[in-house]
Amino acid sequence: MPSDQPLDPLDLLVLGGGVMGLFTAYHASAGGSRVAVLERGEIGDPRTASFGRTRSYRKDYLDAEYARLADEAQTLWRGFERETGVRALVRCGCLNIASSAVTPDLASTYGQLSADVLAGIGLAPQTLSREALAERYPYLDADVGHLDESAGLVDLRAVTGALLHALEQAKASVREHVDTIAIETGIDGGLIRVRADVGDFVTRSLVIAAGHGTNDLLALLPGCELRVPITKDRPSEAKYFTPAAERRAEFTSDVMPVVAYLDTGVYVHPIVDGVVDAVKIGYYNPPDIPRDRTGVRDIADFVAQCMPGLADAGASVEDVRDVDGCDYDLVADDDFVLGPVPGLPNVQVGVGWRGTGYKYAPWVGRVLFQLALQGGTVYDIRRFDPGRFIAARLEPARSARSVASAVEAVR
Ligand SMILES: Cc1cc2nc3c(=O)[nH]c(=O)nc-3n(C[C@H](O)[C@H](O)[C@H](O)COP(=O)(O)OP(=O)(O)OC[C@H]3O[C@@H](n4cnc5c(N)ncnc54)[C@H](O)[C@@H]3O)c2cc1C
Repeated sequence: MPSDQPLDPLDLLVLGGGVMGLFTAYHASAGGSRVAVLERGEIGDPRTASFGRTRSYRKDYLDAEYARLADEAQTLWRGFERETGVRALVRCGCLNIASSAVTPDLASTYGQLSADVLAGIGLAPQTLSREALAERYPYLDADVGHLDESAGLVDLRAVTGALLHALEQAKASVREHVDTIAIETGIDGGLIRVRADVGDFVTRSLVIAAGHGTNDLLALLPGCELRVPITKDRPSEAKYFTPAAERRAEFTSDVMPVVAYLDTGVYVHPIVDGVVDAVKIGYYNPPDIPRDRTGVRDIADFVAQCMPGLADAGASVEDVRDVDGCDYDLVADDDFVLGPVPGLPNVQVGVGWRGTGYKYAPWVGRVLFQLALQGGTVYDIRRFDPGRFIAARLEPARSARSVASAVEAVR
């Protein structure tokens, strides 16, 4: 329906106020562009993927391209910290462990294979023997560890707070509880009008970064055939372990790294003062890996076999209920979905972060901003082209997911 209102277009409208949408708006508004973000729910809702307490950031992927991108993202995180004056990263390191009692072939564990990939791109982690592990992390029972001291945890509340503050300073508008009803393209020779329950927004460029809400928005775009094949998954168990007060100091992020045993689907986050007062252990369903192949049945079993010192520290155990009541966004072909919506060059989409997206957020936001406002990006993102799912309809099954890439996806 045509509107009589004079058009005063935004430079960029972002749909979705998760970390990807907010970082897109952050980069765009820093250059003085007129930017708005519309969020369907509430920013900071701990039931959404981007909000909670901690996410791990690390580079230990089996695919060198994702490892290089994670390294690039770390550089951008450091820039974000300098620009905002906020400590976003908790630099506690990340330790991939393996035990022959759990995964008998130590040479083919996730930790070893990812260490090989990192060595191949000049970022080799430190390898620790059983003895070195026992001395440094006495609560562990493992035969080998690969420690990347440059990795660690992201403090989500610090990041969200810094992003919202920067957006406010840049006079970017962030609206919550907004439902998008319709989208019109080609207005006045190329503008886009988003009709929402709170009114209309006209923009030169649109970014859709709405997580699991993305396909609903794509369906509102006239003539848009793209639907992203994303599915939901979530950790099957997540527990907080609170060590006895006199043992707490052994499990804080100044001395304890993120501990990962991704072959078993387990990751452990240390206590971070002022952020989270318990060790968090998550156990997800490694896609395509039969559970019985790993020798770890659940979190209690992992602690008994690989982290007995945590149980010995008199830790009380409770389910994680305050955060992470949200889903991973897994992609059918296991690659990010990032780029222009086919046929609509001034509409960009970013979704499908394979359960591992937070660490990439400053990079994703930078790419979406560059595509939206600079007409292209300095990064090679052809692999992530959303258009592959249009082509895939004509030419099914681009590639089967490998077990290895499936394991690394969800972290
Ligand atoms: C349990 C869990 C643990 C994880 N652990 C890690 C980790 O350790 N390290 C790591 O790097 N990554 C991790 N991830 C992944 C990471 O959190 C996500 O990849 C990232 O937060 C995705 O951000 P997003 O902005 O794309 O999506 P979301 O956070 O889902 O944000 C999308 C937003 O869009 C909004 N929206 C939806 N529809 C509409 C609409 N129609 N209009 C407007 N807004 C809309 C939603 O309400 C939501 O706020 C984890 C994810 C989960 C679920």
